[in-house]
Amino acid sequence: MATTLIDGKTLAASTRAALKDKVAQLAAKGARPGLAAVLVGNDPASRVYVRNKAKSCEETGLHSEVHELPADTSEKALLELVARLNRDPKIHGILVQLPLPKQINSDRVLAAISPAKDVDGFHAESLGALVQGLPGFVPCTPAGVMEMLAHAKVPLAGARAVIVGRSTIVGKPLALLLLQKDATVTICHSRTKDLAARTREADVLIAAVGKAKLITKDMVKPGACVIDVGINRLPDGKLAGDVDFDSVKEVAGSITPVPGGVGPMTIAMLIVNTVRSAERTLGKAAEQPAR
Ligand code: NAD
Repeated sequence: MATTLIDGKTLAASTRAALKDKVAQLAAKGARPGLAAVLVGNDPASRVYVRNKAKSCEETGLHSEVHELPADTSEKALLELVARLNRDPKIHGILVQLPLPKQINSDRVLAAISPAKDVDGFHAESLGALVQGLPGFVPCTPAGVMEMLAHAKVPLAGARAVIVGRSTIVGKPLALLLLQKDATVTICHSRTKDLAARTREADVLIAAVGKAKLITKDMVKPGACVIDVGINRLPDGKLAGDVDFDSVKEVAGSITPVPGGVGPMTIAMLIVNTVRSAERTLGKAAEQPAR
């Protein structure tokens, strides 16, 4: 079966290109969108993610700041930085790169980010809004997956969607977004019995686990759309997704690659959220009575 490649790199580039004019207009009105990324410690993967996010922001015309803190930073010091960024009018989005070192409680730090600047969508207020179908920032990876499905014109109403992975940043919010599009959603996880039987039911199969090549050809319904969120480093240094791409592409109707799939779309959605945040501040300024 001929499979269609859902190319996240190209879609991300066109998403960012389409934002450039809007960013320039906002800048002209004194609200150039600004993103502050906070990196604590020396995790090499986190360093690469933050660098890529900052580079994409700059290429799209945003103001970008990276705050690098040492691995032994205290929670108090990090909370003080977040409070400062919450007050900074140049900053419309705050991103604290996870994971954080052991001495810092990630939940407390994420809760300290102003919901108005929560462009990662991890704050309880943002996730609560998503559950209720209210406006708010949608986490970037699930938002990127939904953009890819829309772009590839994958039918969702009435479709069986199976998500493997139940994390708060990917699996759970993605389930809510797919429900909003009227899919029938199953979430699988580490305790799911007979995973292959569940995944074979999927018209849309999404893998967000963190185990290289977990999803093999025999686990996929012929013609299904397969979205691979996983990023795994193989012993030879190469990147692999959670899907065994070479075998699964023989049966899938459409499939995303790793790298070049969900990863670039995640960054594009971070920029989309930051631009929206800057637009909202202008809207709020317009609502203020003239003095
Ligand atoms: P996580 O570790 O928080 O969650 C993993 C999930 O997989 C858990 O819910 C667990 O129950 C489930 N799981 C573990 N083993 C399983 C098994 N054998 N069968 C079925 N389910 C199993 O991970 P996460 O933060 O959601 O990330 C998942 C993957 O996605 C990772 O590889 C991560 O690097 C990647 N990721 C990529 C992006 C991106 O931008 N492309 C963004 C976030 C995460």
